[in-house]
Amino acid sequence: MNAPLIIVGAGHAGGRAALTLREEGYTGRLILIGDEAHVPYERPPLSKGLLQGTTDLAGCSLLNSERLAELGIEHLAGHPVSRLEPSQHRLQLADGQWLPYAGLLLATGGRARRLPQEQANVFYLRTHDEALALRSALNPGTRLVVVGGGFIGLEVAATARGLGCEVTVLEAGPRLAGRVLPPVISQALLDLHREHGVDVRLNVALESIQADGVLLVDGQRLPCERVVVGIGMQPNMELAAAAGLEVGQGIRVDDYLRTSAPNIYAAGDVCEFRLEGLYQRQETWRNAEAQGRHAALNLLGREVPFETIPGFWSDQYDWGLQTVGVLTPLMISRPLAGGGMLLFYLDADQRLQGACGWAQGNGVAKDIKLCERLITARTALDAATLADPGQSLKHLLRG
Ligand code: FAD
Ligand code: NAP
Repeated sequence: MNAPLIIVGAGHAGGRAALTLREEGYTGRLILIGDEAHVPYERPPLSKGLLQGTTDLAGCSLLNSERLAELGIEHLAGHPVSRLEPSQHRLQLADGQWLPYAGLLLATGGRARRLPQEQANVFYLRTHDEALALRSALNPGTRLVVVGGGFIGLEVAATARGLGCEVTVLEAGPRLAGRVLPPVISQALLDLHREHGVDVRLNVALESIQADGVLLVDGQRLPCERVVVGIGMQPNMELAAAAGLEVGQGIRVDDYLRTSAPNIYAAGDVCEFRLEGLYQRQETWRNAEAQGRHAALNLLGREVPFETIPGFWSDQYDWGLQTVGVLTPLMISRPLAGGGMLLFYLDADQRLQGACGWAQGNGVAKDIKLCERLITARTALDAATLADPGQSLKHLLRG
């Protein structure tokens, strides 16, 4: 009997890869192994609808147990893979069982970066179970300190305000989501959170977390019942590294998402791939979706190079941020009705390379889709036209 295809990591990229293998006609044995107890699910709702209580696991799932059974996908839930032997084409589960594979996808994602000190009032947010634990800890009037003014921190702060909590955000850097977003968007986020009554503090250094509050290096004490720490993600690449696969800041792959070991691919948050010549990881829904699908095609021998235009979104209160392509600190700005904005980045040849939109609700979705088409079309554009709210992006695309 032929060895199966195996996917390690039953998250977004792993789930999408399993679905794609079946959609593309793979009829052989397919095993999806995850260390979480759940069916594959998407994580964006964890800090939004799931934390609010407006959705549940079923609402975030990529495929439920019935669908897994229908598709003949053997889902081993609650089974961490503990060892990989690429030379023998086999892997070992934590319970000791060895499984051979014909082809393997590593889609092990990442885990929340933790502070050295563990404390009962401190919460992290990466998994469904962590989201549920946090939800049950947030009540009207709960004083919550959020450490980290990145996406986890800001989305949790917005949701917690909606739940009636008193929220303080502590950001170590000079601005919110400063490594990823242009300064004008960081400022818009700061204004929005302050308008909603969040006490946002920038350039703050944390000394320690105590049972009844947080101590800052400057001696200030912030009394609180709960602390959420959102200070970044650590890729789960230890399994690959211990097996001798090439790793950098993630599991290194070539243009086909192949790792340095034969018949082993990587996808999603853990995957370090080359974009515009530079090795990088993308920690986004869009990347997990695209790479999960793409790795599945290449596991089937399609030999298609992976190409992508990156992008992500964030929802906070009733405002939405959407991005596509490359973001730079200085971008061309177009004001939008209602206080929002569209930002554009033109390269030296006047081609659009990136855009970012900020507006109430889903107000920039159409424009960002048009920007993606403008990026792909490589149409030469000029800054004055892009900055003018009277100029339709659709016309620019046609022109
Ligand atoms: P994951 O979804 O993390 O899946 C990896 C799985 O592998 C996990 O279940 C893990 O436990 C498992 N695993 C790891 N090691 C092993 C092992 N040895 N054996 C077995 N299983 C293993 N992106 C956006 O673009 N927009 C958003 O609004 C957004 N919101 C987010 C909100 C939250 C709270 C979080 C945490 C992320 C958010 N993201 C968002 C990012 C997006 O969800 C991730 O980029 C995406 O989930 C990555 O998918 P993945 O499959 O690579 O990893
Ligand atoms: P993140 O986006 O990397 O942000 C972490 C933030 O915390 C950074 O601003 C960082 O500042 C700051 N920080 C680091 N150490 C700190 C400290 N000791 N005290 C105070 N601030 C500190 O990571 P995250 O918000 O934890 O998110 C984790 C993962 O979830 C990421 O993969 C993220 O992409 C994903 N996620 C995405 C979305 C979305 O796309 N909408 C939503 C939620 C989660 P410096 O940069 O200056 O270090």
